[in-house]
Amino acid sequence: METEENARSIHDQTSQAIRYSIVDKVLDVPFVSTDYQGFFMGAYKTCFSTWVAEHALIYSCPVDELRHQEAPLVRINSACFTGDILGDRRCDCTEQLHMAMNIMKSEPGLVIYHMHHEGRGLGLTSKLHSYKKMNEEGISTFEAHKQLTNRNDLRSYGSAILILHDLGITNLRLMTNNPNKKFILEANGIAVASVVGAAVDRPDIRQYLRSKRDEQAHFIDFDLIEKS
Ligand SMILES: [Zn+2]
Repeated sequence: METEENARSIHDQTSQAIRYSIVDKVLDVPFVSTDYQGFFMGAYKTCFSTWVAEHALIYSCPVDELRHQEAPLVRINSACFTGDILGDRRCDCTEQLHMAMNIMKSEPGLVIYHMHHEGRGLGLTSKLHSYKKMNEEGISTFEAHKQLTNRNDLRSYGSAILILHDLGITNLRLMTNNPNKKFILEANGIAVASVVGAAVDRPDIRQYLRSKRDEQAHFIDFDLIEKS
């Protein structure tokens, strides 16, 4: 049976209340890594309606220490099979992930890695269709997604909100360029003490970064990027 601790109604961007619950979780599994010594892994399985998904956690100190920090660094990170696993260079996802993890070497922090967020929640098949379209027509990733699916972002952050409440992390510093993430956390009882930018400076993806700024209102400091 659901309890108040493991179930919560999350308000999405259109203010619909969706009831999320926790099915299972595991915390404080030590990382075996030369680059990220002392880090931990965890995982949550969450459910809303009949949909069940798993989410990975990566963090730099035991959860009990993390939750007692005044405002730990948190990144809500979407999975990117093409970048994170294959090393495809079209996007900046992998650099952003490791940027967060590198900061977490010197301060307590948490990454919630959403494994079902491939292609902004549209899925790997739609993502690869859009890559083909981008190659053939020279359009942006957002325009390709819109032409193919009529949506350019289907990601939900309800599970991340549920996980943060379950961990007792309700005041944080959010590492993101995406204003939507800050908005949805604050609308669901998570105080964002500050936003830490996650801009990647790589000349070969400037067009992609510009499309994030122009079509999704991401905070990206182009003065810095244009000068490089
Ligand atoms: Zn990516």
